[in-house]
Amino acid sequence: MMSGKTSTTPARPGTPPGEEVLLDVRGLCVDVDGARGPVRLVNDVSFTVRRGEAVALVGESGSGKTMTACAVMNLFPTPQLRLAGGEVWLEGRNLATLAPADMRKVRGARVGMVFQDPSSFLDPLMPVGRQIGQALRAHGRREGVEARVLELIELMELPQPAQTAAKYPHELSGGQRQRILIAAALAMEPALLIADEPTTALDVTVQADILRLLVRLRERLALGVLLITHDLGVVAQTCQRVNVMYAGELVESAEVGPLFAAPRHPYTQGLLRSVLGRNTRREALFSIPGGVPIAGQWPTGCRFHPRCPQAQAGRCDHEAPALQGEAGSASRCHFAAEPRILHTWDASQDPAHGVTA
Ligand code: SF4
Repeated sequence: MMSGKTSTTPARPGTPPGEEVLLDVRGLCVDVDGARGPVRLVNDVSFTVRRGEAVALVGESGSGKTMTACAVMNLFPTPQLRLAGGEVWLEGRNLATLAPADMRKVRGARVGMVFQDPSSFLDPLMPVGRQIGQALRAHGRREGVEARVLELIELMELPQPAQTAAKYPHELSGGQRQRILIAAALAMEPALLIADEPTTALDVTVQADILRLLVRLRERLALGVLLITHDLGVVAQTCQRVNVMYAGELVESAEVGPLFAAPRHPYTQGLLRSVLGRNTRREALFSIPGGVPIAGQWPTGCRFHPRCPQAQAGRCDHEAPALQGEAGSASRCHFAAEPRILHTWDASQDPAHGVTA
């Protein structure tokens, strides 16, 4: 097992000079044990996060984005899930090969995590300040814990730090509880924050506040942020680059501006149309017809072909497309070199057809 620490992550070919890659995920695969053997949930996923940059993993439920985040942390909710291949480079170490004891030191200290529902991760019987303090003590900090807790509460832009620290979770709003979790995640000054749907459980107005806070923290702390979300609207407010996942694979990777201006993959075009329809209220609410296939029961050929209005029979249903393009600007479609901006969704197939916003 590798445990030696070097100072930087080896540069990936094509990385612009001067751009320090913080996290470099290469060919990541995740399997789950099924009744008839292992089933691949995440297949050959690669992406980077630079220091001070926010990068999104986007997709519907079942796309594999949360499993990818679990694989980065090498921390899975059940023992049936496991990292089945690939490398996860962070600050010069391949986390995929770290011994469990070494990986425990990385989690919390170099990588912080924030989840969807703050209530599930806070002890209802303990003041929130003590809970932030626990994150520090778990990594061996003994001196100045109380002062650091107050500093973190202030950093989260919560009022009256000492009074807030003494409160129990039920005395705080949902948005305030999420700020406490972010404070705990950042307690040890990690280089990378993984935020898994951090605003989904919150009211819309509070969501915007938390997203703005994440942007300020990223800028102020030069934090790398990996944001897991199903919502391209959240990506637009928060991230510089985006990786779109479908059925356990990356299907498009791009900077946020180009992706919103001219999405290349038909799935991204569908996701974007659903956001634009919702935000502009100019068209009937749109959702991509059909659903993400069940893991392990992937369609032959392109996994998106049963839902794709641009699918070409005889090719798309037989031949799996490769990810084409350069790192950070790629699309997994046979027609990636000549993308068509999609205006051909058949609204009559849309489950939400006829529903107006
Ligand atoms: Fe659609 Fe074919 Fe491209 Fe897949 S390869 S996204 S089915 S056009």
